[in-house]
Amino acid sequence: MTGLTRWIAALLLGATPALADTAPSTDEARTAAYMDSIAASPPRLRLFLQAMPKGGDLHNHAGGANFAEDYLRWAAADGLCLMTDSYRLVDPPCDAPGRIPAAGLERDYPRYSAAIDAFSTRGFEAGTGDPAVAGYDRFFSTFERFSPAYSRHVGEALALARAQAAADHVSYLELSSGSRVAATVAAKVGGSDAADLDALYARIGPLLPDAVRQVTADYDGYDAEMAKAGGCGGPNPTPACDVTMRYLFTALRTVPPRQVFAQLALAFATADRDPRFVGVNIAAPEHDPVAIRDYRLHMAMIAFLKARYPRVKLSLHAGELSLGLVPSRDLAFHIYDAVTVAGASRIGHGIDISYETDAAALLQRMARDRIAVEINLTSNAVILGVKGAAHPLALYREAGVPVVLSTDDEGVSRSDMTNEYLRAVTEQGLRYRDLKQIVRDGLHYAFLEGPSLWRDRAGGAMVAACASLEAPACKAFVAASPKAERQWRLERDLTLFEARPR
Ligand SMILES: [Zn+2]
Repeated sequence: MTGLTRWIAALLLGATPALADTAPSTDEARTAAYMDSIAASPPRLRLFLQAMPKGGDLHNHAGGANFAEDYLRWAAADGLCLMTDSYRLVDPPCDAPGRIPAAGLERDYPRYSAAIDAFSTRGFEAGTGDPAVAGYDRFFSTFERFSPAYSRHVGEALALARAQAAADHVSYLELSSGSRVAATVAAKVGGSDAADLDALYARIGPLLPDAVRQVTADYDGYDAEMAKAGGCGGPNPTPACDVTMRYLFTALRTVPPRQVFAQLALAFATADRDPRFVGVNIAAPEHDPVAIRDYRLHMAMIAFLKARYPRVKLSLHAGELSLGLVPSRDLAFHIYDAVTVAGASRIGHGIDISYETDAAALLQRMARDRIAVEINLTSNAVILGVKGAAHPLALYREAGVPVVLSTDDEGVSRSDMTNEYLRAVTEQGLRYRDLKQIVRDGLHYAFLEGPSLWRDRAGGAMVAACASLEAPACKAFVAASPKAERQWRLERDLTLFEARPR
């Protein structure tokens, strides 16, 4: 009997069979051999990888996850206008010079198409667009163009991101997201100086409880919109309803120091109080002059707040840089400081690792402390031009640093999680068991609450209660841990996936 027929037979008998244990099963070996046989055929690989259960997407940005077409649709419904030179969305009136209404744009194909290109990096790798505009500039300039539509439709945007996760068989989404409330808190503290963090925190602290309540109320609203969009709780819920969502409150690193600190303070306070926020992140272009100037200050701010909110976990964008993008001295310490000063549990991108001072020791430390790196292959290829053999994925893996695959901004880069896995095979040479490890690590290193199903490393021994996945003790363990629940179901889904006839 294959795993699938065993599973079905057991279901009919009212019991569930033992799931695949961690030793390579026959089905696993057969699946690995099948993937090897199609590895040179992207269309076949796409079919195979689309169906593969993928665990968590731990690096995915709210807003960046959405497609230009949705932004144009919302802009039209809201009566927003498009600037004809910059393709930025702006508030009405639209009859001023240099503006056209977003409504009806689909009947003007050249402009509609140009707007999509301005809201995304469509076709960049194929050479579409102005060759004089670098990937990083094309990418980072999209956000201010579409943000007026995003900010009016956050709940719907999150719902679409979750639906896309479901389509890619991603069962857990840890979305980097911010809040409009951060700007309000920042405006109240004013100024730009942040030399005395104690004094600054003393001013911001009293504002935080009310600000956190506002963030929570906003996300209650988004949750309700997502549930409505998915029909969750109704008779015909969409697969999106079964994707677990959590957030990393994400501060932007390109604004004056006081504003960065205000965002971070709200981020920590929210993550401390609202269980949907499982950690804190910092993002926006790392090569931006302000981000470069203040990098060490930002790490000190995060360390300051981490000391006051020790339970809050950190996944930090660090090392999203390449040779020549910034002076070489700025390639030497960002990942190191994110790990050793700020106390990051995970690193986003980590592309410039081989330019870090004593990179070998840093890699060793990351391997020892299990600091996972979130790898975003399409994003790195477009923004930094780093791909193929130039990408440090293999270096991390050889050093024993855990890695996960993630999408970064799948709407802007017009990719998806399945495509990231496909690139990992076609460009990075990963095999089935490598992908399976990454799938499991995508939940093991998630900040989702509760203990892991794995005692130590994902794919090794499971916790004592789950020596048998069907034992009552394991059921109780899984029922008490949202993370273990996702992992238990992932193991079931992998068993079913590997049991398919090929
Ligand atoms: Zn990112």
